[in-house]
Amino acid sequence: MTSRIAVLGSTGSIGTQSLDVARKCGYRVAALTAGSNIDLIEKQIREFRPKKAALLDKERAAELKIRVADTDTEVLAGADGICACAAETDADTVINAIVGLAGLNPTLATLTAGKNLALANKESLVAGGALVKNAAKAHNAAILPVDSEHSAIFQCLQGSPGNQAVKKIILTASGGPFFGKKREELRHVTVAEALNHPNWSMGAKITVDSATMFNKGLELIEAVRLFDVAPEHVDILVHRESIVHSLVEYADNSVIAQLGVPDMRIPIQYALTYPARYASPVAELDLAALCNLTFYKPDYETFECIHICREAVAEDGLAPAAVNSANEEANLLFRQGKITFLDIPRLIRAAADAAPHKKEFTAEDIFELDALMRAEIHKRL
Ligand code: NAD
Ligand code: MG
Repeated sequence: MTSRIAVLGSTGSIGTQSLDVARKCGYRVAALTAGSNIDLIEKQIREFRPKKAALLDKERAAELKIRVADTDTEVLAGADGICACAAETDADTVINAIVGLAGLNPTLATLTAGKNLALANKESLVAGGALVKNAAKAHNAAILPVDSEHSAIFQCLQGSPGNQAVKKIILTASGGPFFGKKREELRHVTVAEALNHPNWSMGAKITVDSATMFNKGLELIEAVRLFDVAPEHVDILVHRESIVHSLVEYADNSVIAQLGVPDMRIPIQYALTYPARYASPVAELDLAALCNLTFYKPDYETFECIHICREAVAEDGLAPAAVNSANEEANLLFRQGKITFLDIPRLIRAAADAAPHKKEFTAEDIFELDALMRAEIHKRL
C-alpha cells in the first residue's frame, strides 16, 4: 500500500493518467520527471508540489528551474537527475512511465533504492531481464505490473501462492488497427493508419508497436519475467473489444479472467493499492450493453513480430535486448516516414542477427548493444 509516489514520464499517456489516479486517491507526489515538455511539467509541479522534478533536456531544465523558483521543488537535469528523482525521495512507490530503453537506469535506480516499482516501462524489464529481477530481489523491492494484461494476470494469480497449479497464461491482444489484413495489404499502410488504434489512446511508440504486434511480443517476454513462467506456457489470444484483459488457466482447466473497460487507470490504481481495492473514477463495465466478446487466434504469419520476440526469449541472455533496441529504432524510422511498415520486422531480424550472444551481461552491455542495433538498422536502409 502506497502513500507517496514518484512519476517518471509524468507528461505522457501513462504519466498523466497516473497523476489522475493520485489526484482521485489523494496520493502525495514526491517527484516528477519528463523528457522535454516544460509547460506541462510546470503545471504538474504547481498542482502536486513535489520535492524534486527533472527534465532530460538540460536547457529546458535550466529554464524550468527559473520558472518554478517560487516553489519548494528542486529541479534536476538529465538522465542522472531522473534517476535521482526515482531513488532519492521519500516516495514508497515509483511509477516508471518512461517510454523505451531510456527507462532501464531509472528502473534499476528505483529497485536498488529498495523502492517498489509500478512498472509501465516494459522495455526495461524485457531488455534488462535477470539484471532487473536480481536488483529487485537483492533490495527486497517489489515490481508491480501496470501493463493492463500483466495487471490482469497478477489479479488472476491472487490466491495461488507460487503460481501453484498454473497451466497457462493467456495474454489477450486487441489485434490493433490492421487486424484481419494479410501481409500484402500491409505493404502501403501509412503512419496515420498505424497510429489509429481501435480501443486505446496511448503514446506513439506503443501504438505503432500495437499495429505491428511487437507490443504483444514484448508483453510475452514481460510475462515470462514477471511471473517466472516458461515462454511455451504463455499463449496469445486476439480479443477485439479489449474487455478481457488476460486470463490464467489452472491445472483443473478452470480459467480465471480479469475484465474491465479499457482504461489504464484501473491497472495503475491496483499497482498502488495492492492488495487493497478502492473506488475508482473509471466507468463500470456494462456487459449487457456490449452484447458480444470475440476471440481469435493471432495471425502469426502476417504479424511476425510476435515470433521474433518468442525466439528472443527462448534464447534469453542479450537476445531480448537486441530485438527491443532494433524495434525501437525501426519503430522510430517508420514514424518518421523513412521506412515502410513491412520494413520493421525485416530490419529487426537483420539487425538482431548481428547481435552478440551473451548469457551474462551488465547494463553497459545493453547500452552498447543498443547503439550497435541502431547502427545495424541504419546500415540496411
Ligand atoms: P508517452 O510517449 O505518452 O510518454 C512517455 C513519457 O516519457 C513522457 O513523459 C516523456 O517526456 C518521457 N520520456 C520520453 N523519452 C524519454 C527519455 N529518453 N528519458 C526520460 N524520459 C523520457 O508513452 P506512454 O504511452 O505513456 O508509454 C510509457 C510506457 O508505458 C511505455 O513503456 C509503454 O510501453 C508503456 N505502456 C503504455 C500504455 C498506454 O496506455 N499508454 C499501456 C501499457 C504500457
Ligand atoms: Mg498492454
